[in-house]
Amino acid sequence: MVKAEGVRKSFGAVQVLKGIDLEVQTGEVFCLIGPSGSGKSTFLRCINHLEKINAGRLYVDGELVGYRQKGDKLYELKDSEVAQQRREIGMVFQRFNLFPHMTALENVMEAPVQVKGTSKAQAKERARELLDRVGLADKAGNYPSQLSGGQQQRVAIARALAMDPKLMLFDEPTSALDPELVGEVLDVMRDLAEDGMTMIVVTHEMGFAREVGDSLVFMDDGVVVEAGRPREVLTNPQHDRTKSFLSKVL
Ligand code: ATP
Ligand code: MG
Repeated sequence: MVKAEGVRKSFGAVQVLKGIDLEVQTGEVFCLIGPSGSGKSTFLRCINHLEKINAGRLYVDGELVGYRQKGDKLYELKDSEVAQQRREIGMVFQRFNLFPHMTALENVMEAPVQVKGTSKAQAKERARELLDRVGLADKAGNYPSQLSGGQQQRVAIARALAMDPKLMLFDEPTSALDPELVGEVLDVMRDLAEDGMTMIVVTHEMGFAREVGDSLVFMDDGVVVEAGRPREVLTNPQHDRTKSFLSKVL
């Protein structure tokens, strides 16, 4: 579903991604861990072309992200084509980024109506289903300010799902939450995983990575240091850098 080949990204003189190679299979829960500043968010942002890579290739579902290749040459896609690619990818961030002036239901309806041209009635029905799925059927009429952080984050997941993405990217979706609210969001993500969604999850929740993850990658300083089955990486890390990181977070 996702393939990165030698992906590099710099901001000015600072090289943040120094040649990332990895592959995420369809239906896989792919967890990404690593210290602050190692490039995890940047990598996620490259996957939906919020950042342009400087070298390498990035594919989602067999399609080059942001470019078209003719012979050896790459041509940038038009904005409308990039938007089309982005529609297929749901993203949930650390900070709840719901529209504050819209109810939970309206937040979930918004993109299908505005972007896909779904009828309001159809979007509403689907939004109700999705809110039910994340356990918030009774909060449809609440505004974000009337929801807890965990509830807001579940609405954000429902909102991303409303576009029927084939891939979901999660960037530390629980790290801004009070500890007692983390579980309800992880439970929703676990359900999604069991349903077969392909997910890339940047997280500090090692329990989630171990129990739900199919693969775990440890990134440091813009490179993949270690990758494998979560249990193996977490219990038997091979590299000193992985060992040192895990000793701080486990
Ligand atoms: P964290 O765990 O703190 O979220 P991260 O692994 O997600 O860290 P990134 O946010 O990808 O790290 O940042 C990697 C590096 O790239 C950092 O040094 C950061 O300062 C730099 N960086 C990220 N975005 C930009 C930008 N738009 N302009 C300049 N530098 C940036
Ligand atoms: Mg980050």
